[in-house]
Parts: sequence; C-alpha cells; structure tokens
Amino acid sequence: MPAFVDTSPPGECIFCKLVQGQIPSAKIHEDELTIAFMDIGQVNPGHVLVATKRHAATLFDITPEEASAVMQTARRVALAAQAAFEPEGLNLVQFNGAVAGQTVAHFHLHVLPRHAGDGVGFSWPRKEPGAAVLQDYAERLRQALAP
Ligand code: 5GP
Ligand code: ZN
Repeated sequence: MPAFVDTSPPGECIFCKLVQGQIPSAKIHEDELTIAFMDIGQVNPGHVLVATKRHAATLFDITPEEASAVMQTARRVALAAQAAFEPEGLNLVQFNGAVAGQTVAHFHLHVLPRHAGDGVGFSWPRKEPGAAVLQDYAERLRQALAP
C-alpha cells in the first residue's frame, strides 16, 4: 500500500509552504482559490499540479467553490499545455487517500500531458458484475445523493 509522504497539519505541509512562498516553486498561475505550479517529478514535460490555496486534505474536504475553481484552472492549464507542448493526449488525475496513491495530503489535481509509449500506466480491473448489481449500486448512490 502506498504511504503518505506528507500529512502535515494545515499551514505546515509542502504545498501550504509553497502557497506561502516559504519554499520555491515554478508557479504558472495563481488566483483567489487556486495555485498552479510545475510538479517536481515531471512525469512528462508540462506536468502541472493545480492545488487549492487553502489546506484541505482531499476532495472530501474542499468546498463546491474550490472544486469549481480547481476545474476552471485545470482547463486553462490543459489548454496551455496543449499549446506549449503539443501532447498527443492529456490526463487529469487526482488522488484521495494513501490507498488511492495520494502522497501529499493537500488537495491537488495533476494536469498530465500524454504521449504514446510514455510508460504511464493505471490498472483498470473491470468486474462487469451485471445489471442487477449495477441497479443495487445505483440505488445506494441515489439514496446517498438525496438531499
Ligand atoms: P500525489 O499526492 O498526487 O500522489 O502526488 C504529489 C505530487 O507532488 C507528486 O507528483 C510530487 O512529484 C509532487 N511534489 C512533491 N513535493 C513537491 C514539491 O516540493 N514541489 C513540487 N513542485 N512538487 C512536489
Ligand atoms: Zn497544506
């Protein structure tokens, strides 16, 4: 199981320090709610992280306004990456929890330009459980969604 690398409290995690300018970053955009900067790992050229400025660990902790703002910024960054690096494709990737691959517990979304044969992989083990199970899962979610 992957381990969290940084679960520091609000204000003390790597990305909070980056937002506050306490550690350097290659920042490309900043607005009221979001910040976008180059991922230090650069899985492919143009790999950018879009993070909330406020410390919130996961998708479950951000506000609707922050969710909207992050996607608006990600769209702009994706268009910029398309223009600047001309990738053949692009993934938006977002991890919540160590088991899901999150290593920095401050909400962020990866804008990842893609190229054929770039070695990026994501296992997608389909279960195809059938219509009855789909209806059962759907009902559980409809109830959870209900106001
Ligand atoms: P995740 O939590 O989504 O698995 O990944 C966290 C990402 O943050 C990694 O891709 C890693 O390369 C990036 N990262 C970790 N520390 C720093 C840092 O200090 N500066 C920048 N720019 N990126 C970082
Ligand atoms: Zn933080």
